[in-house]
Amino acid sequence: PAARKAGRATGEGDVETYGVTLSHPEKVLFPEQAITKAALAAHYAAYMDRMLPHVIDRPLTLVRCPQGRAKKCFFQRHPEGMPDRMRRPIGEDDGDAIVVTAPGDIMELVQLGVLEIHLRGARADRPDRPDRLVFDLDPGEGVDFEAVKDAAVTVREALAELDLLSFVKTTGGKGLHVVLPIERRTPWDEAKAWTRALAEKLAAAEPDRFLTKMAKAQRKGRIFIDYLRNDTKSSAVAPYSTRSREGAPFALPVSWDDLARLKTSQPVHVGEIAGGDPWAGIDETRQSLTSARKSALGI
Ligand code: ATP
Ligand code: MN
Ligand code: MN
Repeated sequence: PAARKAGRATGEGDVETYGVTLSHPEKVLFPEQAITKAALAAHYAAYMDRMLPHVIDRPLTLVRCPQGRAKKCFFQRHPEGMPDRMRRPIGEDDGDAIVVTAPGDIMELVQLGVLEIHLRGARADRPDRPDRLVFDLDPGEGVDFEAVKDAAVTVREALAELDLLSFVKTTGGKGLHVVLPIERRTPWDEAKAWTRALAEKLAAAEPDRFLTKMAKAQRKGRIFIDYLRNDTKSSAVAPYSTRSREGAPFALPVSWDDLARLKTSQPVHVGEIAGGDPWAGIDETRQSLTSARKSALGI
């Protein structure tokens, strides 16, 4: 595996990568594909430059599967068992956040058997002011991926009508995430209300296509526009994060042009390299939920 070649052996089969020692690099984490910890490290090494800017300084929720995805996995959002540099107080009474600030921190997550990295929509220095909002499109039973793609385009167009630029990624699951970068001006409650208003507007216009209620029973044949990700402690899967799902897929930013050609939300798998960086420029986007954009949605 690439990580083994790139890394420096430290004895006993351990591998060093970005200053972090990976123990048991041969441990199999995705048994169906025999993907090892070293191969997982190679995945994150390959995407490091593109991924890190999106992940850095953001409170994380992790899915850890120390014995691989077939065994017990658990969520973690506090830094127990992690290096002190990854601990960040964010003024919440239930404890400190986990943050990464350097490539080695991503490798530390690999070392800990993290198979999914999820991000908050705000950064740790101002957890009350989001800079990334997400429209999480969740297809109900019987909805094909073409319809999910169309839904993403519909959300994009609704945002474009308000002069807002948006980005799209596959989740590595069934749906898509449309991501709206905003300046850190709007508090969470207003941002959430705004995303809710947009989702409800789309659902009201086309109730056969969309719904905004969580109830799974009502989802059949329709797409749930999940705006509920837009909350202080909620998260969404990170760009390039692997998923602990069958096939070892990962979340992939795509350009709106390339979206048209996708057949599933799992176009790539660990071990495959996608070219380009369709989200380059997302951090230069300067736009916010102005009062004009609020009143356009009736809030
Ligand atoms: P899919 O495309 O299959 O829907 P997804 O990542 O969007 O994949 P969802 O179930 O829609 O999965 O969840 C959206 C996001 O909400 C996830 O990416 C994750 O960050 C967060 N999430 C969902 N369930 C949980 C949970 N039980 N605990 C913590 N976070 C969760
Ligand atoms: Mn989803
Ligand atoms: Mn969802």
